[in-house]
Amino acid sequence: MKEIKVILMGVGNVGLNVLRILQTNNERNDGLSVRLVGVSDSHSSVSGKNLNIQDIIRNKELNGRVSNNAEIDVAELLKERADILVDCTPASRDGSREADLYKIAFQNGLDVVTANKSGLANRWKDIMDSAKNYSRKIRYEATVAGGVPLFSVLDYSIIPSRVIRFRGIVSSTINYVIRNMASGAKLDQVVDEAIRKGIAERNPQDDLKGLDAGRKSVILVNRLFGTTYTLKDVRYEGVEERRYGENDRLITEIYEDNGKPIAISRIASLSEDDFLRHIDIDGLGYQILTDNNGTVNVSDVSDGPYETAGAVVNDIFILSNRP
Ligand code: NDP
Repeated sequence: MKEIKVILMGVGNVGLNVLRILQTNNERNDGLSVRLVGVSDSHSSVSGKNLNIQDIIRNKELNGRVSNNAEIDVAELLKERADILVDCTPASRDGSREADLYKIAFQNGLDVVTANKSGLANRWKDIMDSAKNYSRKIRYEATVAGGVPLFSVLDYSIIPSRVIRFRGIVSSTINYVIRNMASGAKLDQVVDEAIRKGIAERNPQDDLKGLDAGRKSVILVNRLFGTTYTLKDVRYEGVEERRYGENDRLITEIYEDNGKPIAISRIASLSEDDFLRHIDIDGLGYQILTDNNGTVNVSDVSDGPYETAGAVVNDIFILSNRP
């Protein structure tokens, strides 16, 4: 049985589901065992050679913390030899906390899997350079379009192609909000509901201002066109208290205009025959126009922290060369 050692930072909506999925995969006993050697939330952390995942889940559910240890000590967490650092923490304002954390992980010989967008959206070049310097890898499937496979499609399924244009509904919260507002609901009321469902983060302001979608478009344009853009290079808009049309969606588009890569997230009214118009209210999806693999449409029916956690675990498995 192959074994891989993981440190998890952040045990909220996504992180807790990552632990649940790892637990069920370990119980299946089918080729890869993931050992948890460190875990932390915002006010506690614990490390050890083989932490009991079920106990950590129970502790978090019952006591709201992963351990009684009152500190988050990254150096202490990294003392336990690990293979992958998994980041399921909330986005920091400028991505510095994430960039510093990933650098320490790379220096210590760990690869990184992240659901958190801020590091990549603000410090893409630094993070990619530092991964390269230490010959480590970073995977970030869950950062754009939650649980919908996107970067693994780009990496493994359309290798002969160049992407000419990307269009997608890649942000759950804002689309959930404007679609409910189109049926007459008030902004505050829908946002509360989205938080309860775990679609919106506990602090939903980044989502509502469009910043979350902006971060995703930075990651996408950099991945698709090899740019080193940051948030100031992309355009994004948020939601406001008004009546939206029933075909309105927040669309993220990435394309080249006269050779210049453009990334934009805006609310637009979609035509009846548009694939994106038919994505379910809880779902996410995208359309990519390629030169050699045709037009590829991918979507899911429902997307939230559980599906996002599935994408995180998939990245862990890819990095571990799961047999
Ligand atoms: P939550 O707010 O539910 O959970 C965040 C977790 O991180 C909490 O456990 C929190 O601790 C912990 N935390 C906060 N600060 C730190 C820190 N400095 N060090 C260690 N742990 C910390 O967020 P989500 O689980 O919803 O989202 C996690 C990440 O995934 C975010 O970056 C989000 O943008 C991204 N994401 C989320 C999606 C979703 O569907 N929810 C979809 C795609 C991406 P505590 O429990 O003590 O508060």
